[in-house]
Amino acid sequence: MKKSIFIYYLIGIINMMVAQQKFGIVVHGGAGNILPEHFTKELEQQYHQALSQALNAGYAILEKGGSAVDAVTAAIKILEDNPLFNAGKGSVYNQNGQIEMDASIMEGKEMKAGAVAGVRRIKNPIEAAKLVMEQTPHVLLIGQGAEKLWTSKGFELVDTSYFYDEKQFQKWKENQINKKNQKHGTVGAVALDKQGHLAAGTSTGGMMNKMPGRVGDSPIIGAGTYACDKTSAISCTGHGEFFIRFAVAHNIHSKMLYQNKTLQQATHEVLFDELLPVGGNGGVIGIDKNGNIVMDFNTTGMYRGFKLSDGSNGTFIFSK
Ligand code: ASP
Repeated sequence: MKKSIFIYYLIGIINMMVAQQKFGIVVHGGAGNILPEHFTKELEQQYHQALSQALNAGYAILEKGGSAVDAVTAAIKILEDNPLFNAGKGSVYNQNGQIEMDASIMEGKEMKAGAVAGVRRIKNPIEAAKLVMEQTPHVLLIGQGAEKLWTSKGFELVDTSYFYDEKQFQKWKENQINKKNQKHGTVGAVALDKQGHLAAGTSTGGMMNKMPGRVGDSPIIGAGTYACDKTSAISCTGHGEFFIRFAVAHNIHSKMLYQNKTLQQATHEVLFDELLPVGGNGGVIGIDKNGNIVMDFNTTGMYRGFKLSDGSNGTFIFSK
């Protein structure tokens, strides 16, 4: 074979290999008692728009060859800035009428992870979690320590009034009386990049009326978030105490790794065979190393969406 033909042939093969590496992103905005009768058409539209915006931001990074970690962070930041969701700006209040936010991120190549819990003045907790992962020898920093790290790197804290929302406050007051008005909306994202690496992230205001100092599953690596290039990237939402006790994200990873279950099988088993019988409500999003995705929940709905390099995409709220 002539040298020039051989080079063209080689370039062709490389192009094919690059083109075949699937990439994509999946996001969630919380699971719970979410039913069509709770929504006006406009409100439904707002949720779809917010989910699409987050997917597009993450996908644009992946398309340019950016990392799954950066895609997950960008998508989550958009959802944290949107008061519709229980994370960042829209975080729910605890028993004292204060917010305490949790977030975590993990990457699947070296399995590095970072998390913050109980932060009150960081606008985008997912960025603080990424900072812990990338610039400290630790995995989880809480409260003032996390905020100190944030400012030590030159970032500003916001005033707690940034998180105040009159509607949210009224809901919290009602909730103190009837205990019914639970806001679900923890946010999360999982991504597979063109290099074949996975990442997962989750961010939340936690459970409404939680005890001050309560930490949920979202910043606990292996409970609310997990990523390993050998299997998948997982982000959870739901009643955090159950997700911690059943180590949900790591549980799904383990079923895939040790029992050869698919991402869908493993997720379904944990949600329906393990959590549901004991009253653990919630949902999971995931993407595996081959670009297969899952968006499953044992509640009536979950804000969710996906966008993959094969052109498929969509956003959804209810079970059908
Ligand atoms: N899992 C979150 C927590 O328990 C809440 C949620 O996802 O709705 O803090």
